[in-house]
Amino acid sequence: MGKTTGFLEYARQENPYRDEQARVRDFDDLHTAQSVEARRCQAARCMNCGVPFCQSDFGCPLHNLIPEWNDLIYQGQDREALMRLLRTAPFPEFTGRVCPALCEKACNLADDGVTNRDNELYLIETGFEKGWVQPRIPAVRTGKTVAVIGSGPSGLAAADLLNQMGHTVTVIERADRPGGLLMYGIPNMKLPKTVVERRVRLMEAEGISFLLNTEATPELVEAYDAAVFCGGARQARSLNVPGMEAEGVYFAVDYLTEATKGVLSGTAPAITAKGKNVIVVGGGDTGNDCVGTALRQGCASILQLEMMPCAPEKRASGNPWPQWPRTLRTDYGQLEAISAQGGDPRIYETTVKTILKDENGVLKALETVKLQKNAEGKLAPVPGTEQTLPCELLLIAAGFVGCDAQTLNAFSLNADARGRLLPEDQSHYLGGKLFSAGDMRTGQSLVVRALADGRAAAKEVQQFFEKKNTL
Ligand SMILES: Cc1cc2nc3c(=O)[nH]c(=O)nc-3n(C[C@H](O)[C@H](O)[C@H](O)COP(=O)(O)OP(=O)(O)OC[C@H]3O[C@@H](n4cnc5c(N)ncnc54)[C@H](O)[C@@H]3O)c2cc1C
Ligand code: SF4
Repeated sequence: MGKTTGFLEYARQENPYRDEQARVRDFDDLHTAQSVEARRCQAARCMNCGVPFCQSDFGCPLHNLIPEWNDLIYQGQDREALMRLLRTAPFPEFTGRVCPALCEKACNLADDGVTNRDNELYLIETGFEKGWVQPRIPAVRTGKTVAVIGSGPSGLAAADLLNQMGHTVTVIERADRPGGLLMYGIPNMKLPKTVVERRVRLMEAEGISFLLNTEATPELVEAYDAAVFCGGARQARSLNVPGMEAEGVYFAVDYLTEATKGVLSGTAPAITAKGKNVIVVGGGDTGNDCVGTALRQGCASILQLEMMPCAPEKRASGNPWPQWPRTLRTDYGQLEAISAQGGDPRIYETTVKTILKDENGVLKALETVKLQKNAEGKLAPVPGTEQTLPCELLLIAAGFVGCDAQTLNAFSLNADARGRLLPEDQSHYLGGKLFSAGDMRTGQSLVVRALADGRAAAKEVQQFFEKKNTL
């Protein structure tokens, strides 16, 4: 431990986001950095506990060596700290910006956990700035070829590790840009796309090929010694209500994709919230990204409907540390809406009853209804609580139901009841020379879990080659 009294002397201080009223005027990065001195103080707060829960299954899925690199940051040995971080974390520039920091909630300092995510971001950005992050080109190639289908975080992580093992890796991606939801999903202000592109350029310099605008087919994959499906869980959950076909109703990822394409091309997006009353169905993180994006596009008003009741401010008794706290979180988009509209955009225990359209089939309003648990403990509409809300853009962020049928059909693969390519033995191996990883295997999850799963799949591919004794 660097400073025995660090956690007593220094208070937790997160990197502040830019001012709400200024940041909604652009799609630039939300994050600001603190001084190097402040960063050393934050790292000094890590107590290097005997049992580092931050590294355990309650904490970081990558099992990052958190106390080690915090100590090195405190000692001023940033380069060594970065090398320790990179032993387990493939892309800290992504997790340092978008990870919900499971490690911090599992920290022994409980609600005042060490700012590991900000410390991690400091290390990797310092590494890029100082030229410490350079292409790592494998000295020996094994002669084995691997196709990675999908370039989201799981695909990038699998490709990275397989390449470092000496295999020749090709990433096949149907979109026009690589990154999966890192590119078209998470908005630019949360994860600038230049950050994704910088990593992809580095991976190309390390020998990985990217085939963009390319649908994976059995014929294409046939040529490789192994293939890892990292296609995500992108089948959106729909609303089973009348009026879904109205013009002006979109799934969240389609809307966010067009918004990012507009930002990147500098042109008006194909779907815009400008001047519209916008309602987002779904109170989660995806819904929050829609709120932040709609505000930046200049919406007239924004509301977010959530079926569940508002979460408690503090942990409930059945949700003790080091579990992830199921408490009320007000994210960046909601804070911006509060600042712009003077109130929280979230309406709890409410859902859509009917989507109302005009004579041309264009969305004009929503009829909503309150929900309450019935005798069977299921949420049910409460008669007489209907309300009509003006709405010209409805964004559905109600979750995902699994991987898309197109890939499954093309490769004659069977998903489980939850739409996952998860083998019964919980491995990544699907049979033949096929593997799965990321959201496609686990269901919609988190970037850090997708990274960990991609790396785990890469290790199974390596074992597969070793077992066949063909290396
Ligand atoms: C709007 C939104 C915001 C989110 N924000 C956060 C966040 O802030 N923090 C966080 O930790 N997590 C967040 N998540 C979750 C996180 O993004 C996902 O868990 C993660 O991206 C999953 O990675 P993946 O590689 O498994 O799949 P994806 O990122 O979904 O990538 C799959 C890729 O595979 C490609 N593909 C699919 N099938 C084929 C095929 N047949 N041929 C070629 N290509 C194919 C797709 O085009 C896509 O690019 C968010 C999710 C959404 C929807
Ligand atoms: S990846 Fe996430 S959970 Fe892991 S150390 Fe970084 S912030 Fe913590």
